[in-house]
Order: sequence, then C-alpha cells, then structure tokens
Amino acid sequence: MKNHILKILFLFFLYSLSFIVMAGECKYQVSGTIQVKTILKELKKQTLPIIGAKVKIFKSQLHKGIYVPWGEGKTKSDGSFSIPLTLKGKKCETGRFIKVKLKFQNDLLELRHKHAGFSPFFKVKANTIYRSSEKVTTSELDLGKMIFKKNANYSLGVGDFRKHAELWTIYSKVFDYLKSFGEEFGFQKRVAVKYPHNSLISDYGPDGKRLERSYANELNQTIYIIKNSRTDDFTLRTLVHELMHIWAYQHIKGPSGLVGYWLQNLTTHTPFAPAHIAFHEGFAEFAAQRILQEVFEKKASKPYNRSFLTTLLAGKKLKFSEGKDSGWTSLLLSMTLENIQNYTYFGPGDVYGEDLDKKKIIKRDLSQSEYLCERTFITLKDILSTFLPLSQGGENVKRAKLNFGDFLNRLVKRVPELTSKEARKYIELVNPRSYKEPFELFCN
Ligand SMILES: [Zn+2]
Repeated sequence: MKNHILKILFLFFLYSLSFIVMAGECKYQVSGTIQVKTILKELKKQTLPIIGAKVKIFKSQLHKGIYVPWGEGKTKSDGSFSIPLTLKGKKCETGRFIKVKLKFQNDLLELRHKHAGFSPFFKVKANTIYRSSEKVTTSELDLGKMIFKKNANYSLGVGDFRKHAELWTIYSKVFDYLKSFGEEFGFQKRVAVKYPHNSLISDYGPDGKRLERSYANELNQTIYIIKNSRTDDFTLRTLVHELMHIWAYQHIKGPSGLVGYWLQNLTTHTPFAPAHIAFHEGFAEFAAQRILQEVFEKKASKPYNRSFLTTLLAGKKLKFSEGKDSGWTSLLLSMTLENIQNYTYFGPGDVYGEDLDKKKIIKRDLSQSEYLCERTFITLKDILSTFLPLSQGGENVKRAKLNFGDFLNRLVKRVPELTSKEARKYIELVNPRSYKEPFELFCN
C-alpha cells in the first residue's frame, strides 16, 4: 500500500516537473516561399518553385555576431517552408537576429560549387537568402516570397547560385516525370552536379578546339558542367543529356565499360566504337530530346537521314550504325516518332533530290496517295523499361546486350503488342544500305 502511494507521489512529481519545463519553453516559427525566375531562354521567363531543398535557420544576439544553427526544414512542392523552433527559459524574453540559408541538397541531388574539391565536406554550400536587420521579437516570422532573380538581395541575386536554383527546378521536374512511370524508373542513387566546372589551365587547344567538355562521371555519379573563358554549357539540352547518362549508368547491371574504354582511347568518340560504348552517347541524346519535348514542351530533334548516316559511316555495313552514337539516337528517335510514314529517310542528293544541307529527316511529298498504316507506337517509357528486368527476379540489362539485336529483343518482351518483325523495321531505317521508306515498311 505504502509502495503504491510512493508511486503516485513520484508520478505527480514528474508531472509537475514537466509542467515547469513546458512553461519555460517558447515556440517560434519561420516561414516563407522560395522561387526562381528562370534565365534559360529554352524555359522562357517563368517563376518556378524550389522543391525539396534544405532551409537552415540561424540565430545570433549581434547583427554581425556569431550565428548558431537553430533549426532546419525542407521546401514543399510549392516552394514554401515553415520551420518550428523553440527556446527555453529566459532566452524567450529577448529578441534575436535571424539568418536563413538555403542548401541545394537532398537524397536525390546535390549541387556543388566552383571550388568543391575532393574533400567530402564543404562541397555543397549553404548560402544566405535572408538576414534580419533588427532583432526579431515576434514568435512568427513570415518572410513572404523570396525569389532568385537579377539584383535580388543576399545570394538570391548571385549568378552561379541563381543558376543552381534553376538547375534544381529542372532536375526536380525530370525526377518527378521519370518517377511517374514507376518507382523503378526513378534515380536509384544521389546525383551530384558541379557547376561551374573548369579544371584545365587552358580551355582551348592551339587549333582552337575545345579541350574540355561537360560529362557525367560513372564512378562518382557526378555531372560536370563546363564554364570557361569562351563557353558556358549551362543549357537545358546539356543539363538533361548529362543527367540521362547517369540514369543509364544507374539502370544497367554492372559497369558500362566506358571508363575502361576511355582509358584505352582517351575518348569515347572513336570512329567505330563497340555497340555498348556508342549506345550510351546515343541513348543520352535520344532521352534528352524526348524529355525536352515531353517535360519542357520543346520540339525534339528528328532522326538522322540515311545520307548523313552513310557519309558518317564511310561504309555501308549495318554494324557501323550500331557503333555510332548517331545510329543509336536515330533508331530510338524513329521508334518514338509520331506519324513516321510522313517522313522520308533519304537525305539531300537522294531520290527526293532536295539539295538541303541537312542531317535530319524531312517530311516527304504527301500529295500522291493515301496509305493505311499500322504501327505499334513506342514511348520513352517503353525504351526505358528495356533496361529493367524482363521478369520478376530478373536482372537489368547488361552491357553485352547493348547492341541493336539484343536491345530490340528486350523491347519486344517488354511491349507485348510489338513483334520482332515490326521491331526489325526500325533497323532498316538506320541501315545505310537500305532504300525502304517508313510508309513502305508500316503502311499498305
Ligand atoms: Zn554525352
């Protein structure tokens, strides 16, 4: 009995103790919305939300004093954030200076600055996007809209950081789009991007040729976007192209073989590469074009015509198409091209005789006759699904299967309506030796 009373007394003691602590705790909140006004002409002038970036709140007793971390949170899908904060005891009474920093880092993506080196620390900077000029005494601080734009305050107006904001929104859109196909279509590991990047002392060779290009490193899953004395690769196409290289690395089983090939040849752009090497460049360009079209409402470029493929291949053997990135780009763009029967694959100087200095296919003369066409339309999702296991417990595509024949076989297994016979018709279109037109292949 006595024990019981003691227990009740002890619980009552704990209860009142917690009440004292509660009474001494004050609650605060810092909120706002972060957006970016786009610079890239491909995106026109839009104001887009910064989604899923890290927001950090700091406090100090002096305006130019030492700011200590107070709390952090993440921006939501509309770019807004609201971070609850607490203080205890006497500190509640006095005001404090507040600083807000933004860091472009989450589980999927991190953006590295110009001087990010090999150290795993300090690769991603948190930049100030707000600092109070007076002590804040209210419990709720709403900072309203904070927009990355020209002449904006703090780091919101700083060139490279503003470009990071834009890059962040572009990649967020691509991540969301790919994930909308299914979880397995998303990125599997965090992607890092370094912009601006320039590791060479000299940007151009004596012949005026560029020495360094933007690239996606498979070993550290990092994209390097070049900005040097004459060039800035910060374009929508380059950003998406490099990202899709990483997507391919993350969705094939085992290493791509690119690293070894590069060490042997010091380039992956040899005249005729093994199919699995040419595949990566061709695929990245194809996927970038379709994403530009489907996510950013841009016109995708067309497949190459046979004249171009022939001159490029300097020989009329099909296997050469497979050993060229342009062959792969053409094949994949053709499969996903709407109304393919309206185009001619002959280029300038061929049957249609137009002497245009163009590498891409053009619309043919449609006046002669009408055709009844039957074709299984292939989507970007279908092409991407070719990388994924064909059955439960199966494996993603291996580099040995990255040739025209095996790749199409996998596609046929992924797309039930597509027959092997129909799939092979696309090989005809990128075969420099063939004279078949799409309307002959797909229509009656
Ligand atoms: Zn590339």
